[in-house]
Amino acid sequence: MENDEVVHVSATVIEHAQRPRNYGKPTLANGHARITGECGDTMEMWVMVRDEVVERASFTTDGCAPSLACGSIATTLAEGKSLEDAASVSQDDIVQALGGLPTEVVHCAALASATLRAACENYAKAVAQRRQPASSSEGAHCGSCTDRSCTAQNRRPNETEEEFAQRQKLEQRLCRIRHKIVVLSGKGGVGKSTVAVNLAVGLAQDGCTVGLLDVDFHGPSVPTMLGLEGQKPYSHDGELIPVERNGVKVLSLGFFLESPDDAVIWRGPMKVGVIRQLLQDGAWGDLDFLVIDCPPGTGDEPLSVFQLLGKVDGAVIVTTPQRVAEIDVRKSITFCRKLSVPVLGVVENMGAFACPHCGKTTAILRDGAGKRIAEEMRIRYLGSIPVDPLVAETSDDGSPIIETYPDSAAGLSLRRTVDEIGRLVAAGASHATCDTEDKQKETHDANRHPHS
Ligand code: ADP
Repeated sequence: MENDEVVHVSATVIEHAQRPRNYGKPTLANGHARITGECGDTMEMWVMVRDEVVERASFTTDGCAPSLACGSIATTLAEGKSLEDAASVSQDDIVQALGGLPTEVVHCAALASATLRAACENYAKAVAQRRQPASSSEGAHCGSCTDRSCTAQNRRPNETEEEFAQRQKLEQRLCRIRHKIVVLSGKGGVGKSTVAVNLAVGLAQDGCTVGLLDVDFHGPSVPTMLGLEGQKPYSHDGELIPVERNGVKVLSLGFFLESPDDAVIWRGPMKVGVIRQLLQDGAWGDLDFLVIDCPPGTGDEPLSVFQLLGKVDGAVIVTTPQRVAEIDVRKSITFCRKLSVPVLGVVENMGAFACPHCGKTTAILRDGAGKRIAEEMRIRYLGSIPVDPLVAETSDDGSPIIETYPDSAAGLSLRRTVDEIGRLVAAGASHATCDTEDKQKETHDANRHPHS
């Protein structure tokens, strides 16, 4: 027995190995990494970053006690730190926090440190990808733009000088917006504006520059939902300066209406003119994302939005999960396909109830119906947001739930949905539709019945 060495391990190592903190895959994370170390152990880590701070970190490992202890302490050290500081948690920091480690297992600390750093870097990369300039011409703006293929370069044969000038102005504006996401619904009251507002605020929380355009003539509720009632964008040098709130530039029809009934009595061409003006004259500047809260349905107003916007990254369709809503979702999808607009997916709202007392979420409408609609229509399912009294309360108070109660059931669902939409858009709209076969069929059908 004289060769046997007694290896001393600290009480902290034993404690973290026996009762690891932050163990397991979380429901919500926006940074992730998986690394296999030289010893053959694989560690996975997830971070949830908000406003550049690691709010939560968690891990799993297939290694044994020291690996558990190192993952546990590394994630504990990361929480509450800035992204930069969390990414810098080193092997030495981990060993020191554990009160020392036997030399032969120090590699576990190196693995935990490397995995944490990679998870933080992957988060930063994803955000940077969402923020990349759209093309080499972006930033140059029209005066110095060299993109010969740009449709704003030349007057079309059927265009008057004035129409050309207007189109150029609009395209110059849109050229500086990297991603455009249109939020649609088959009918009103399903939570379209709620999703649009939380999407815009959630993307801004990720560090993106965001605009939110509310052209829902049936009830422009964005000013209320963002606590901007009574505010007015001001005009400067022929531009409309959006109202800014926590990094989101907002223009809404609601800012211009004396009474909520005003817009409803406008005629079609007037509505198109207003949508054009908000897009064209809005001083949006360089944006990573413009989220558009569209009028519900598949009529002239949403059609004008798509026609004016030109190329968009995709549409998010919001629905409730009843059978009658399914018909509307179907119509919205066909509408997008006819216009060659990629459908990013469907968000199911108010299918379940998040009880404020017991915290449990219970299906109140048709359980899983949103998922089934998405499967049948071969589009992505972007998540389900439960009925949560906090959603209605925060909307009325002008402080979106993703900001005020991010850990509530609806707050977490919305965050997951925002992350999924951000990820899909950053990956490229061409990957955003599930099916090509179905699209071809729809196009074929549309060609046979162009007005159906
Ligand atoms: P739409 O834009 O489709 O007309 P809104 O987003 O304006 O719908 O939502 C209609 C009403 O329903 C608002 O008062 C909103 O606060 C409320 N609401 C939306 N989603 C939820 C939800 N998940 N839980 C509770 N209330 C909700």
